[in-house]
Amino acid sequence: MEYERIHKRPEDCAGANLRNYEAYAETFSWDQARALLDGLPGGGLNIAHEAVDRHVLAGRGDKLALRWIGRDEETRDLSYVALQEQTNRFANVLTQCGIKKSERVFSLLSRTPILYVAALGTLKAGSVFAPLFTAFGPEPIKARMSIGSAKALITTQAFYHRKIEPWRKELPSLEHVFLIECAGEAPPGTLDLTAAMASMAPSFDTVWTSPEDMALLHFTSGTTGRPKGAVHVHESVVAHNITGKLALDLHPDDIFWCTADPGWVTGTSYGIISPLTNGVTLIVDQAEFDTERWYRNLECEKINVWYTAPTAIRMLMKAGAEVAKRYDLSNLRFIASVGEPLNPEAVVWGQEALGMPFHDNWWQTETGGIMIANYRSMDIKPGSMGKPLPGITAGIVTQSAAGEIAEITKPMAMGELALRPGWPSMMRAYLHEEERYRKCFANGWYLTGDLAMRDSDGYYWFVGRADDVIKSAGHLIGPFEVESAFMTHPAVAEAGVIGVPDEIAGEAVKAFIALKDGFEPSENLRKELLGHARKRLGPTIAPKDIAFRKNLPKTRSGKIMRRLLKARELGLPEGDLSTLESEEQ
Ligand code: ATP
Ligand code: MG
Repeated sequence: MEYERIHKRPEDCAGANLRNYEAYAETFSWDQARALLDGLPGGGLNIAHEAVDRHVLAGRGDKLALRWIGRDEETRDLSYVALQEQTNRFANVLTQCGIKKSERVFSLLSRTPILYVAALGTLKAGSVFAPLFTAFGPEPIKARMSIGSAKALITTQAFYHRKIEPWRKELPSLEHVFLIECAGEAPPGTLDLTAAMASMAPSFDTVWTSPEDMALLHFTSGTTGRPKGAVHVHESVVAHNITGKLALDLHPDDIFWCTADPGWVTGTSYGIISPLTNGVTLIVDQAEFDTERWYRNLECEKINVWYTAPTAIRMLMKAGAEVAKRYDLSNLRFIASVGEPLNPEAVVWGQEALGMPFHDNWWQTETGGIMIANYRSMDIKPGSMGKPLPGITAGIVTQSAAGEIAEITKPMAMGELALRPGWPSMMRAYLHEEERYRKCFANGWYLTGDLAMRDSDGYYWFVGRADDVIKSAGHLIGPFEVESAFMTHPAVAEAGVIGVPDEIAGEAVKAFIALKDGFEPSENLRKELLGHARKRLGPTIAPKDIAFRKNLPKTRSGKIMRRLLKARELGLPEGDLSTLESEEQ
């Protein structure tokens, strides 16, 4: 391993929630985690009660729940008691409109306070919240709302005219459209939400929900194909709450910033629910990524815990550590990353630029919450995703020709990453796709579709998505390892690696490279990069070919779409592009 283990000193761990991973994991039980929450009388459980009302009932209502920073840097603050009142009003609107338990309420809103109110108010009303990302066009919105049999939608008047009205008649289940930012009277068939909420009572009795009642509908990122609608229940709050404490080290006095949009699962599980159940102050920035603005947020909002993603980290790296050094980041205590493999280079860069390493963690829309993580008090092996959350049993498995699943225990043997089902935030279905859901489970395992390895210390190493792994001359090559080797070259901003058909080897490795500012593609640089990779990876694994790109195709949630690089390279159909970020070539 090229990168040295990052040892945690006692001062790095002082006050950490999880001090001794092994000891804690041994005695952990989900019942203990459940006992940290209130629940509802008669064995009920409701996410919004745990996130909002519980704190008000315990006398913490005046605490700042959410600080919103608008695009133009205007700020708005909501205490827990204000959030309670707003969510009550919203729940009253739903109830008065006759929207019932389990019915689906979609949102198509940018990161504005009403999005957070709508999410929690919907849960209070016992309905199901289904967030959509605002950059989706009319078709992907319609597809998702049809799958979810949307009963209601909250959006802006402008989005309504552009993205909903053209097809609204084709979705008869959509009975209610609530609009914000109405210019004048709300158009026919819609309701002005701001006015409706103002006329509602500020109190509301949370609808009784059982832990198994459906609460959230999240669509996957669509990195590997058509997005799936993962169903989550109120019980998932048990995992959201405890993983916030263990994997993100959230403490009640923390100021926490999760940069993900609630249109994706991270932005809901960790951008709304987990921080609020943990009673922290949540920072929400409406604007998109901007290097200086992000450092300014960290400094001015005195952020203690920061949860972001590899694409953003790579962009910060591109701007250079000197930029970070211009800001006072002394309040930062813990920084974490999710969504894509985090190159070891980036983990170490955190230390240089921000004074602490990034802590990578792994999970999926389907798992609802963090499953494998690097903890504040645990040594980091850069490039590793860390160890399973207490309460989670992970394994590396293979499938025989007969379909039997067997666990591989040999250290650093590659196989599919699998989890023993039964944790609270596990998806309960892919909506209307029973067969696809059933295929995720075999021999008592949930199969993740990701390939990984486990070392002799129990750390997990991501290899690649099963679909992305390259079979070359009898070797299985994970794109992440090859991409990470390129990332150690000073000219490389991003790398995406795929397999292309090769007569002799079966598949050959091809790399797509985006360069940092100040570097231009050239034949010399191409040769240099090929040599650089060969030196680090050896001739078997190193790519034979490189293509330069200004940008790599990514999902709107920031994941490199290797399947699209491959389809384009081979002239194959591009498949479902509903989550593709618009590309600058
Ligand atoms: P789809 O399932 O529709 O193709 P997706 O898998 O990208 O999309 P998500 O559920 O948002 O949808 O992403 C989960 C996946 O992201 C994981 O299965 C894994 O491939 C990748 N991922 C997430 N975190 C990490 C991480 N820390 N390291 C490596 N890969 C990660
Ligand atoms: Mg997936």
